[in-house]
Amino acid sequence: MKYYSTNKQAPLASLQDAVLKGLASDKGLFMPLTIKPLPKEFFDTIDRLSFREIAYRVADAFFGEDVPVAKLEQIVYDTLNFDVPLVEVTDNKYALELFHGPTLAFKDVGARFMARLLEFFINKERLEKVNVLVATSGDTGSAVANGFLGVKGIHVYVLYPKGKVTEIQEKQFTTLGQNITAFEVDGNFDDCQTLVKSAFMDEELNKHMLLTSANSINVARFLPQAFYYFYAYAQLKRLGKSDNTVVCVPSGNFGNITAGLFAKRMGLPIRRFIAANNRNDIFYQYLLSGMYNPKPSIATIANAMDVGDPSNFVRILDLYERSHEAICAEISGAAYTNEQISETIKEIWQKAHYLLDPHGACGYRALKEGLKSGETGIFLETAHPAKFLHTVEGIIGEKVVIPAKLQAFMKGEKKSIRMSKDFADFKSYLLKV
Ligand SMILES: *Cc1c(COP(=O)(O)O)cnc(C)c1O
Repeated sequence: MKYYSTNKQAPLASLQDAVLKGLASDKGLFMPLTIKPLPKEFFDTIDRLSFREIAYRVADAFFGEDVPVAKLEQIVYDTLNFDVPLVEVTDNKYALELFHGPTLAFKDVGARFMARLLEFFINKERLEKVNVLVATSGDTGSAVANGFLGVKGIHVYVLYPKGKVTEIQEKQFTTLGQNITAFEVDGNFDDCQTLVKSAFMDEELNKHMLLTSANSINVARFLPQAFYYFYAYAQLKRLGKSDNTVVCVPSGNFGNITAGLFAKRMGLPIRRFIAANNRNDIFYQYLLSGMYNPKPSIATIANAMDVGDPSNFVRILDLYERSHEAICAEISGAAYTNEQISETIKEIWQKAHYLLDPHGACGYRALKEGLKSGETGIFLETAHPAKFLHTVEGIIGEKVVIPAKLQAFMKGEKKSIRMSKDFADFKSYLLKV
């Protein structure tokens, strides 16, 4: 499969190039040249297939031309070694729990898949060592570090702002060792991101080492997220409730929902989507007005969605040939304040004894307010509530049980390298490795 750039000014790229480069040379995002629909027979029998079997069929449509059958199956099976249950929270509103993976958030799926795909290309092409640079405000760093942990031929450098990530998040990428190095940067998230961008642009550094990124614009990270939309549908079908399915996605950079839109293009019978935002409502405003006005991000309690200029918006535009009308026909939106998010977490805890995390709470609320009669709703529960321990405990006024996986991280010993926000320091470190 070839990949084109959303800016249409770059040559077509192979999957390998698209994965290694991340961004096209014209600064556009890569898109698969064709989206292969899956046959009717697949959807008729999908309720009898396992998550892994379903995911393999979807992966084959995207990556089957570039990766041999047995290898692709191995990559998919290795990525999905945890369950993604569908849980009814209140009437006709189901949570798709994406938080049973290694770092208890949905980004585990894409990160792990990308690591395994990169490993395949490294072995096949006998590439020199690949160095993955990732700036994080918390969740991405942990998913990428754990997804790439122990993968031969790859070294991961995580840059995070000192004192600005939670203790649990920090432990998830500073205690691993092996091929993971964490830099504790004296600055904020933007400083971390600037260091990473400067590294990609530095000629001397790029001659010295092969550098790549692992953020959500990478096709190997975002496309695998289509898997669980199919599995969610399969589970609803088993319950005999899949006729008018609406899927609501708590969105920040809009990679997750874009993968869902791809699933629909492949024939998955989802009626429509809802994109739930926190106060960073740029996409919601676009739906209302047809105007896209990026803004600096605002800090909220659903912080993985604090994005003022969603990077995957251009993919959505491209998918619908820039038609505002076509986009509005399939996607509606909603946006909530911290107070509304807290209110929702508290209400659902008291009413249904289901503990939402702040991101999932946006999803649940948008579904509750947007679902019409005769429709069945799914919202993506993107992270485990214990990842936002203090926020959630403060809201419900009770202690939250920390899952064993998170507790195991807490016991690890933090090892990180202190780094200034001065690029010269970062560069001189990398030149010595
Ligand atoms: C990353 C993240 C999101 C937003 O996903 P996008 O693909 O960026 O829209 C939502 N919730 C959680 C918990 C996340 O980590």
